[in-house]
Amino acid sequence: LYEYPASQAAMERALKVVPSGIYGHQGPSEGCYVPVSSFPLFSKTASGTRFIDADGNEFIDYMCGYGPNVLGYKDADVDAAAAAQAKLEDVVTIPSTTMVDFAELLVDQVASADWAFFAKNGGDTTTLAIMTARAATKRKRIVFIAGYYHGVAPWTQKLDYPGVLEEDVTNNIIIPWNDPVAFEKVLNAYSGEIAAFISTPYMHGNFLDNVLPAPGYWQAIRKLCDKHGVVLIMDDVRAGFRLDLAGSDHHFGFEADLICFCKAIANGYNVSALLGKAALKDVVSSITYTGSYWMSAVPFAAGIATQTKLRELNAPARFAELGTRLTTGLVGAAADQGLHLIASGEPALFYLRLADDDSLMLHQEWVAQMMRRGIFLTSHHNHFINASLTEADVDLTIEIAHEAFGVVKAAHPELG
Ligand code: PMP
Repeated sequence: LYEYPASQAAMERALKVVPSGIYGHQGPSEGCYVPVSSFPLFSKTASGTRFIDADGNEFIDYMCGYGPNVLGYKDADVDAAAAAQAKLEDVVTIPSTTMVDFAELLVDQVASADWAFFAKNGGDTTTLAIMTARAATKRKRIVFIAGYYHGVAPWTQKLDYPGVLEEDVTNNIIIPWNDPVAFEKVLNAYSGEIAAFISTPYMHGNFLDNVLPAPGYWQAIRKLCDKHGVVLIMDDVRAGFRLDLAGSDHHFGFEADLICFCKAIANGYNVSALLGKAALKDVVSSITYTGSYWMSAVPFAAGIATQTKLRELNAPARFAELGTRLTTGLVGAAADQGLHLIASGEPALFYLRLADDDSLMLHQEWVAQMMRRGIFLTSHHNHFINASLTEADVDLTIEIAHEAFGVVKAAHPELG
């Protein structure tokens, strides 16, 4: 079983000079709970679908850097394209035409898009989308789905979170997922006041089973947005390019007005993009919005290589196939021990929950047992498939899951 003394020693150093040691959801204490004693804290090297931590433990990584690893760590084709661009230039006073090449590629590939605006993080694009909707409609209010995550800008946070003002969130209205009737009620109650509806393509929130759109849901939302002049924003930061290279709105049979991409766009090179409809192009041009590194050329070259390779591999079909093989196998492995594992969401971004207790603690125990045997999962967040994962990796994962479920079952005789 894996031990983590080098990671833990590094954490002691980190705690002295970095707030909370590792902040945010990548840290051991927030969001994706695994008992810290079972959790590797620092990574040393990564390749394909695996990384090796500071202690030399090797993991099959089902978190893929929380999404960016879509082709495999250190993908040779992407790294070669990035290196060739780096030889020419990266951050310069004026942009490289590589930016235009990448914008052309994305506009061609993404069904709903007529233009592309590049930034760095997913949150840069969701914030720009909200500003664009407000600038276009001259309205204030935004409709969200309960359990949403659109980044960490103040407008995305909750009133009781530290550092957030009432003014930051006072125009946020939250409705349940899969409920066009609730949306229509809000549209009528705040007639002429709603600027945007923002949502991920399906409900892939944390700490609960993920939920796909009901038949006709997105078409009903699209219709209501059109009727009331509301900008429909697709936050495809997490699911983008894993379900459909033409966009997750296309995957679910509708067109968004604005679509936010980040994680799987350039295989880990640092770029994000807001794409949108022609009618909003002048509006987005009018907004004051930029950043020091937003036109760096290396990530554009990496993005072109990434999207080209994803197309060649027909990657979304492969992700669905591997994700289905994995989740079916894991559910079966749990059942062999008399346990009930629920897999939800799209197989390319599967979410897992051991349903034999309501506290979610049993699930955490199983994740800890997987972790200490070299399978990196998180407890209460969806996972990610990448194109360098193989059937053999999946089968090995299922074999290890059998053992890990057995250990959990043996520790809990009360489960019968
Ligand atoms: N939206 C969604 C759906 C996300 O999953 C994330 C990142 N987890 C973001 C927005 C924010 O992206 P970033 O962390 O790159 O700012």
